Amino acid sequence: MSALNPSTGGINLDSHAVWNSCLEQLKDRVPGQTFDTWFRPIKAISINSDGLFLQVPNKFFYDWIDNHYKDLLRDTVKAVTGNGYPIRYTVLLTENTDRASEIPPDSPLIYEPKAVSPSQTAKTGMFERGTKINENYDFDSFVEGANNQFAKAAAMAVANAPGRTAFNPLVVYGGTGLGKTHLIQAIGNEVLQSGAKKRVAYVSSDTFTLDFIAAIQNNKTTEFSRYYRSVDMLLLDDVQFFQKKEQTQEQFFHIFNDLYQHHKQIVFSSDQQPLELKGLHDRLLSRFQSGLIVDIQPPDLETRIAILHKKATQDNLELPYEVIEYLATNIRNNIRELEGAMIRLLAYSSLLKVDIDLNLTRKVLKEILGSSHPSTISIEIIQNIIGSSYRVNLDTLVGKGRTKEVAEARMVAMYFAREHTNLSLKTIGLYFGGRDHSTVVHAGKWVENRLESDSAFSGQVSAIRQKIENSV
Ligand code: ADP
Ligand code: MG
Repeated sequence: MSALNPSTGGINLDSHAVWNSCLEQLKDRVPGQTFDTWFRPIKAISINSDGLFLQVPNKFFYDWIDNHYKDLLRDTVKAVTGNGYPIRYTVLLTENTDRASEIPPDSPLIYEPKAVSPSQTAKTGMFERGTKINENYDFDSFVEGANNQFAKAAAMAVANAPGRTAFNPLVVYGGTGLGKTHLIQAIGNEVLQSGAKKRVAYVSSDTFTLDFIAAIQNNKTTEFSRYYRSVDMLLLDDVQFFQKKEQTQEQFFHIFNDLYQHHKQIVFSSDQQPLELKGLHDRLLSRFQSGLIVDIQPPDLETRIAILHKKATQDNLELPYEVIEYLATNIRNNIRELEGAMIRLLAYSSLLKVDIDLNLTRKVLKEILGSSHPSTISIEIIQNIIGSSYRVNLDTLVGKGRTKEVAEARMVAMYFAREHTNLSLKTIGLYFGGRDHSTVVHAGKWVENRLESDSAFSGQVSAIRQKIENSV
């Protein structure tokens, strides 16, 4: 630590050592996932009297850190160096982007244009009928979050030693659009790219069924079965489509056994817990149990943001940070929908020749979610919006304080709670620190009176109403 001590004056600090010590401290202060996502990718460049220079992958990253971890980083650097070095960021540019125009003049960002050509490794592998693997679905592009950590780890283990782990078969299950296909294809891509000349078959169970029926019609069941028995790895997507397809299951079962006995890896995906799939043969179910069953849950907000950000970067798209956050906040249970919203937003902006900003995002999202998205203005949203409009924090808003400003904010919030939620007066009172229902009534009257007599106030309330209505 002595090299890090500023009292040593003349000694040059080593930026890597400083940053590594910072990382050690940060590791204990933020959740592991957060650490891996936001801190591990940062590199220290140099440290001198102008500050500690850190390189972040892109502007979005900088925005996020600046928004969420500015104080934490400053404190950590101070704790490590004993000195309040300003933190300065640099961003590595890739070939196709020119973000330099976006830097606010007073921002601590420094852009370093460096041509980085994405290393396109040659993809090798045998492509067979039924093997339509999307090359973009690899492990690198699969963002890890608490929701899928275990599934990803199991998938990677299987990809590294196909057929030689205890995870045979591996069954991945989870809701629609949560990344099952991506993950099981990542296993296939990994194996195809390993140069091991393995034959990988990816097929969804409905295609398998259709192929099988065609094979029966054309007297080709032997060829059909020979093909599947000849592969080194079988990825069978959406096994739920096998439900009630007796003959297909029968055929599949023999293929499965053959592959299994030859230590070939088999991976399934399913949109439900596979053991609860109705209409699947017990013997197939018991095969599932002899391997490993892992689930993918809906991702949390941070993971959704990271996924969206990754997609945008992959496509060289510029999306303002608040737009990504807004999309990720509002679409929670399906990554495919989240991506769809992003694409629609881009289409809109290029057709209408307008910039992508929060307003456009709200409009597009409203259209997508449409009436299937019931008004979900909650009292929490109202309290948040009023809190930020009046610069009053939640504790104060629902607390006992009676300063003029706070009392006004509270009454306006109660007024909107009546206007925008179906909650009873009593419940609204409870949300405001357990106040009586008559207080809520009084608040409503007070606001209405003032709306009539005070035009400045009325303008302010309209602006708040707009914000509340735009929030859904
Ligand atoms: P499923 O098969 O479960 O319905 P998909 O694998 O087709 O879902 O995923 C839907 C979309 O969401 C794909 O474009 C996929 O790349 C993306 N996606 C889902 N989860 C992730 C993740 N963790 N990281 C990156 N992209 C993801
Ligand atoms: Mg799928």
